[in-house]
Amino acid sequence: MIWICATCGVETDDLPQPPGECDICEDERQWVPEQGQRWTTVEELREAGTRITVDQVEADLWGLRADPAVGIGQQTMVVRVPEGVLLFDCVGYVDDAAVELVRSWGTPLAVAASHPHMYGVQTEWARALGDVPVLVATPDAEWVRRRDPLVELYDEHHAVAPGLTLHRVGGHFRGQAVVEWTAGAEGRGVLLAGDAVFPNPDRRSVSFMRSYPNRIPLSGNVVQRIAGQLEGLRFDRLYNNFGAVVPSDAKAVLRRSADRHAAWTRGDFDHLT
Ligand SMILES: [Zn+2]
Repeated sequence: MIWICATCGVETDDLPQPPGECDICEDERQWVPEQGQRWTTVEELREAGTRITVDQVEADLWGLRADPAVGIGQQTMVVRVPEGVLLFDCVGYVDDAAVELVRSWGTPLAVAASHPHMYGVQTEWARALGDVPVLVATPDAEWVRRRDPLVELYDEHHAVAPGLTLHRVGGHFRGQAVVEWTAGAEGRGVLLAGDAVFPNPDRRSVSFMRSYPNRIPLSGNVVQRIAGQLEGLRFDRLYNNFGAVVPSDAKAVLRRSADRHAAWTRGDFDHLT
């Protein structure tokens, strides 16, 4: 049986009984519910009436969510390029209707995740889509809980198709990755940032954290490293993994936010506290 952690939505190996604990939730970046570890399965979720909902985010980009939400409740981004479609940050549930819909948009090329909290049932998706590769950044290989021949490791960059590239940026996780989609935003370029860069409610700044739920910061040096790397990519719009967006001028927003983060963590504003 493939088990799914009810808190993070990540799948396990095929096991007769669920593991005692979820390693991803036991880590300092996540959390275990007060009532203790709980597991579910795709079958149990299906019987409970779970389904996949779809939103068109922009031309050639769709968002899939599980309803009711499974685990962290991310939005899977499905990006289409002429060669086919990439699924980024798979949710913790899959059904035939959703697979058929994705196939109607284009040839499935691969599934990938921004980081281990977003693995969901990525291997289940990859199998359902015709045994496409599950792309995992090498430094995060230790977090893959469903070891499968479809898993393919990459180190720093991986071109899924022309104009559609995974880049490892680190930070939140050592293997934290983003997708650069150069044809997005009417050709100005889109960055699918996962949890590397988190758009804030003020819509004019972003944040960078080692843990969002447990509020563990990153250093100014790491944030400047991430911003510097992302400045070399082609994008004007940025989405995270929950549907939050910086609709335009995202590079300038990123630069200002990284400088602010570095200044606060350096102590430049200690006199304001
Ligand atoms: Zn978990």
